[in-house]
Amino acid sequence: MLKDCIPVNKTEKDLNKKRVIIVGGGAAGMMAAGQAALGGAEVLLFEKMNQLGRKLGISGKGRCNITNTAPVADFIEEFYPSGLFLRQAFSRFFSDDLISFFEEFGLPTVSERGGRVFPASGKATDVKNVLIRFIEKAGVKINLNSPVKGLIIKNNEAVGVKVLEPTSSITGKTKNESGKETKYFSDAIIITTGGLSYPATGSTGDGYKFAKSAGHKINQTRPALVPLEISGNIVSKLAGLHLRNVRVKILTNDIKLKDTFGEMEFTNFGISGPIVLTLSRYVVDALNLKQKTSLSIDLKPALDEQKLDKRLIRDLEQFGRQQISKILKNLLPQQLIPVCLDETKISPKKAGHQITADERKRLKLWLKDFRLDVTGYRPFSEAIITAGGVSTKEINPRTMESRLIKNLYFAGEILDVDGNTGGYNLQAAFSTGWLAGRCAAKYF
Ligand SMILES: Cc1cc2nc3c(=O)[nH]c(=O)nc-3n(C[C@H](O)[C@H](O)[C@H](O)COP(=O)(O)OP(=O)(O)OC[C@H]3O[C@@H](n4cnc5c(N)ncnc54)[C@H](O)[C@@H]3O)c2cc1C
Repeated sequence: MLKDCIPVNKTEKDLNKKRVIIVGGGAAGMMAAGQAALGGAEVLLFEKMNQLGRKLGISGKGRCNITNTAPVADFIEEFYPSGLFLRQAFSRFFSDDLISFFEEFGLPTVSERGGRVFPASGKATDVKNVLIRFIEKAGVKINLNSPVKGLIIKNNEAVGVKVLEPTSSITGKTKNESGKETKYFSDAIIITTGGLSYPATGSTGDGYKFAKSAGHKINQTRPALVPLEISGNIVSKLAGLHLRNVRVKILTNDIKLKDTFGEMEFTNFGISGPIVLTLSRYVVDALNLKQKTSLSIDLKPALDEQKLDKRLIRDLEQFGRQQISKILKNLLPQQLIPVCLDETKISPKKAGHQITADERKRLKLWLKDFRLDVTGYRPFSEAIITAGGVSTKEINPRTMESRLIKNLYFAGEILDVDGNTGGYNLQAAFSTGWLAGRCAAKYF
């Protein structure tokens, strides 16, 4: 693929060269820009920050989980409200293509637990730098500090953008203080401005305004893959505690909505960690509907109630002379023991042989159903992704072109498809960017 970086048949194409504008230089925007340029288009990329790919650089805790090795059918299942919209994009450019793309740019990858794929170097910045090299080589004209302020649409056709110019030439450090707007005209425009999460990286929802001005429906945006807030003083007691191999259930109005197994952690405001992030989309929607929402943690999912009871009987007999607070060390992390005894109303000083059948029952039930009332969720600034966005019903999944406005394309997180953690969101950004870039440049 590296050899393809020289735009094909440049001289022939120069005669009838397409001009493509890309709005936003993140994962989707850079992939779209490079592909359009490979197709012989003259590509102008406008990025409002002073650097490209800021979010990419911090993704995956600095390691960047670029994709997942799951087969396409399973991959699609990881998206909401429906991953089916992505099927066409994945059929054109999928995880193996993405892995080859990075490998051909000298960035080998490794696959880890759960099929998660990372650069072998372990550095997200390497992923970002490959993409920058890719678009530079492909001949994309990069404009930093250049926020797009609006679209120019004529007769239901996107013909250009209005850009707030930087004060001086692009140095990577200039600020766009001039207040002067310049119009740029083109044959196609691709909006890749991302969502609303981590706005400090540049994604502040501008693209939704552009889409709306073009007549597109924006499905309600809300934080997703987001930590949750918990009521009561439990939080201060448990902050910093990591739990592994637990099963967590969400209950709305005391009815089970969803459950999952894995790791979670307590923070100074509530809970986070992989399973909490995964379940958060359901919690956010339930809370927005004002439903009473709680989490039930099964701290011993490998033991059913009967087996757990036998285990408790054994421990209480074997260590009958020890205090219950000490005996529980065999079953629970130290930080949880005072919370457990407080909630089950058992004196920590009681010896094992003094624990009554009723107290043992309370212990067993608590270990299988440690309840936390969820009171809220953290803001967009702490959400890994944005749920909602440009309705996919108005986008052609074969091309990423708007069904309402000709020559207007969308790719990446701005679309109303969001995935679980595991590399799914970046693959979606790369695949939709790839498709939009090629289709905008008519490069098939
Ligand atoms: C902390 C964190 C970690 C993550 N880790 C992973 C991970 O490991 N794996 C994974 O799959 N996903 C991960 N994600 C999600 C993933 O990074 C995003 O889904 C993905 O980057 C979206 O790509 P995008 O190109 O659509 O948008 P973005 O990467 O947000 O890029 C949008 C770009 O558009 C620019 N822009 C916005 N408005 C304008 C405007 N008006 N004019 C010009 N430019 C504009 C922005 O400055 C930005 O550079 C993570 C997200 C976060 C926040």
